[in-house]
Amino acid sequence: MSQSSNQPSGENAPEKVSRPDIKNVIAVLSGKGGVGKSSVSALLAAGARRENYRVGLLDADITGPSIPRMFGINGLSPDSKVSPAESSLGIKIMSLNLLLPSEDDPVIWRGPLIGGAVKQFWTDIEWGELDYLFIDLPPGTADAPLTVLQSIPLDGLVVVTSPQELAVMVVKKGLKMARMMDVPILGLVENMSEMICPHCGKQVELFGASQGEEVSNTTGVPLMAKLPIDHYLAECCDKGEVEQYQSNLFNEMYNLQQKQNHSGGK
Ligand code: ADP
Repeated sequence: MSQSSNQPSGENAPEKVSRPDIKNVIAVLSGKGGVGKSSVSALLAAGARRENYRVGLLDADITGPSIPRMFGINGLSPDSKVSPAESSLGIKIMSLNLLLPSEDDPVIWRGPLIGGAVKQFWTDIEWGELDYLFIDLPPGTADAPLTVLQSIPLDGLVVVTSPQELAVMVVKKGLKMARMMDVPILGLVENMSEMICPHCGKQVELFGASQGEEVSNTTGVPLMAKLPIDHYLAECCDKGEVEQYQSNLFNEMYNLQQKQNHSGGK
């Protein structure tokens, strides 16, 4: 990929293509894979849909099949390369994985190609009128997510970390990217922050002590939510029924977005 992570936007950044038919574009970011970024994207989309918003989910993390699998979607209808798939709740979903002949086909694409595909998902897909489009970004804070951020006008970023991660560093990198792209970070989600023992009900910090509050205080990014490890969530994701899982994530995000808007943010 030609641009590096510390290259500023400005003259060299590609022009952002606006889509007036899509009102709010929120991207979900993480420092590495496996911390629950796709799950959080899915829960945000499902939460927004349950509030009756028109919702889309763009899977830009095209190295893994999580999003289609979580929603139990196997492919697009054969004649449809421009219309997204639709989940049981009515969320419009587009993922490169849906264009592959088989879910198991590996996507061994280099950065520029991935960036190009994601850009096309933004410009060419017939999303229709949407209130919210959530973007599940590729993991990391380097080239691939940057390409996505550079070509799509975002309204906000949500950062997902786990207690395993060097969360302050991830959030600081996210903040740097957000500043470069002139996008506000709405909040931080600390996933897998603890586990409630199903036998004794005791709280277990499986991946170490929660850092959520501390990271939030250090970076100034609001702590949107702390999600415990929940076997039922894993089960719903595995069964393709993530929409069954109830969470407050979208409402938390919505409140933070309103606050940002009122405080003069984007
Ligand atoms: P990422 O997008 O960051 O790579 P995923 O959202 O795909 O991570 O999650 C990785 C795995 O962990 C999935 O199988 C998912 O079901 C599971 N998972 C994520 N968050 C939780 C949680 N809070 N409780 C239980 N399982 C979770």
